[in-house]
Amino acid sequence: MTALVLGHKNPDTDSIVSAISAANLYRERGIDAVAAAQGAPAPETAFVLKQFGLEAPEVVTSVAGKDVYLVDYSDLAQAPADFSGCKLLGIVDHHKLGDVTSDCPLECWIQPVGCCNTILKLMYDYFGVKVPEKIAGAMLCAILSDTVLFKSPTCTDADRKAAAELAEIAGVKDVEALGMEMFKAKSNLNASPRDLIFRDFKDFDMSGKKVGIGQLELISLAMVTPELKAELKAELARVKAEGRHTAILVLTDIMKEGSELLVVSDAEDTVRKALNADANSWMAGVMSRKKQVVPPLQLAFKA
Ligand code: MG
Ligand code: MG
Ligand code: MG
Repeated sequence: MTALVLGHKNPDTDSIVSAISAANLYRERGIDAVAAAQGAPAPETAFVLKQFGLEAPEVVTSVAGKDVYLVDYSDLAQAPADFSGCKLLGIVDHHKLGDVTSDCPLECWIQPVGCCNTILKLMYDYFGVKVPEKIAGAMLCAILSDTVLFKSPTCTDADRKAAAELAEIAGVKDVEALGMEMFKAKSNLNASPRDLIFRDFKDFDMSGKKVGIGQLELISLAMVTPELKAELKAELARVKAEGRHTAILVLTDIMKEGSELLVVSDAEDTVRKALNADANSWMAGVMSRKKQVVPPLQLAFKA
């Protein structure tokens, strides 16, 4: 059976490129595998795939009866609804350990680095497989995206090293310029408030409370007009009303290196306090959902 290599819901560049790079590596190792995604590429990912001449993976939202490798997550909330019916063969991830489990032994590569593709580069090296040029370019972009041009506190020396080696393979001379072009493509606000909230959105189970957190990384928050902000806030209230305890949108200014917090919650004060938001809802230095938003919230909701 061909195994599916599947990233998380509301796929970002790392989850889509990880599926492509991991599927290629599994095939090189003699494992029958194909890249899949739980949705179409967002503007940033579309830019990356086009830039390096790669196809978007097939969209898969049901995995019952299938063999599956996970990339870029291990949370059930980010997996297809019928995940318990699949056979989990492996995980490559750089997030907190989630709540998936398996019926048989599996191959796990989990490291606290800034990007799943950094781990995949280590895997290519470990198995002595050469990264194809096009895939190397896309893996480089995934690292630039997840580490926000190496500025995120999640970024490690391993990410910088992998990026340099991938740039070399892909023949990318000006990494910074490629990164800026990619973030310009990502800063596209030409979509409905709902699509903007769900472009990069994750649900978490925090002590029995469903907490949804979206993030928009922009070149400048000046792009978000007061009208758009009001629309986003109104839509966030609807998102919260769909069975969530808390709905959050983190608006990140990648140049100012901080984020503005939009929140609708049954415990708004708890959220604001946990995230250290100031009177203008600004969170100085906050760039990373996985490292600076999720852990303090989990702690606050545990109390
Ligand atoms: Mg991701
Ligand atoms: Mg990632
Ligand atoms: Mg991200």
